[in-house]
Amino acid sequence: MQCDILIRQGHVVDPSQSINGIRDIAVTGEKIAAIEESLSDCDAKYEIDARGLFVVPGLIDLHVHVYRGHSPFGIDPDPICPAGGVTTLLDTGTAGSYNFEGFKRDVIDHAETQVLALLNLSCIGLASGSLGELLDRRYADPQGVIELIRKYPQEAIGVKIRASRHIIGDGDDGWANFHEAIGAARETETWLMVHIGESPMTIPEMLEHMQPGDCITHCFKGGSERILAPDGTLFPEVRQAAERGIVFDVGHGFGSFQWDVVQAALEQGFEPTTISTDLHAKNLHGPVYDMPTTMSKFLMLGVPFDRVIEMSTTRPAAVLKRDDQLGTLRPGTIADIAILERHEGRFRFTDSYGGHRVGNELLTAASTIRRGTLLAGGGGLRMRHLAE
Ligand SMILES: [Zn+2]
Repeated sequence: MQCDILIRQGHVVDPSQSINGIRDIAVTGEKIAAIEESLSDCDAKYEIDARGLFVVPGLIDLHVHVYRGHSPFGIDPDPICPAGGVTTLLDTGTAGSYNFEGFKRDVIDHAETQVLALLNLSCIGLASGSLGELLDRRYADPQGVIELIRKYPQEAIGVKIRASRHIIGDGDDGWANFHEAIGAARETETWLMVHIGESPMTIPEMLEHMQPGDCITHCFKGGSERILAPDGTLFPEVRQAAERGIVFDVGHGFGSFQWDVVQAALEQGFEPTTISTDLHAKNLHGPVYDMPTTMSKFLMLGVPFDRVIEMSTTRPAAVLKRDDQLGTLRPGTIADIAILERHEGRFRFTDSYGGHRVGNELLTAASTIRRGTLLAGGGGLRMRHLAE
């Protein structure tokens, strides 16, 4: 057979097909053509020797901010794709109803990286980092969210609210915003991502109103509103919510990932559904860096490699309801592929609260294939800081 790219003898981990072993993968055009133990008879235009490397579905980062120029958080999507092996990014509410079409025109439609978006309940999105996009109730625009999701169902796939007191207000105002966000998700039959912060309602109170497929992001944040009760035990409501299909997403960020919380949760048998970075302009150069660095933190904390891959590929694809095409290396699907290198050594990892831990392995992206095209770049942002 002939193919465009042949990835030879990499250690393939594809949870969608229960593959965990050495395989060859052939790519033709934009699609995966074959995956076999050996494709030695394949005549390829370009060959990648992947011996000693891991070959996995293109990583999916379920929480980023890539509306550059319109938000202090926004970064460019395309450089972070090959840097981190990430082929699909979910922008979580950087744009609201007033600026989503600008976001689509200026970023989504031009990016080589697949960018999907959740619409912020606030019509202005994250135009400001600190002013609180829903403190003035007039900015809540559920009707605009509904109209845009109906108009652009391929790109606008759900709703986002940052449920912090300084963003949505306290008491009745906070609840009104929360219910309007839920209502917009229900009306469009999509889903809601709730950023938990120092929220005006408790996490169990919010979970009561959430349905399977809805998502809590920043699930390992510290502070007063945590998934843990004051005595450190996981709220039973959190475990029950995960069991009934609520998504618990990492959303590391610069204020939402605390070693003690994540370790306590893992020790009590609670794993996140999905690993994501919350990558934006204020954490790109630490402590987050990229998706492989965030995944490495879970390896350090004892989560097995294949499950870390699942949380970064197959599971986010299912959350996006795109698992027929994404998060998989099945022949016939879009050729989004990450080739990862697992380095051994001593690596210092930092959480969002300045706490350091030392791990002995670090993942980086060696090569990234997006839609059948091998992208230039790789190595990861974390590697630039190894000298520290
Ligand atoms: Zn965010």
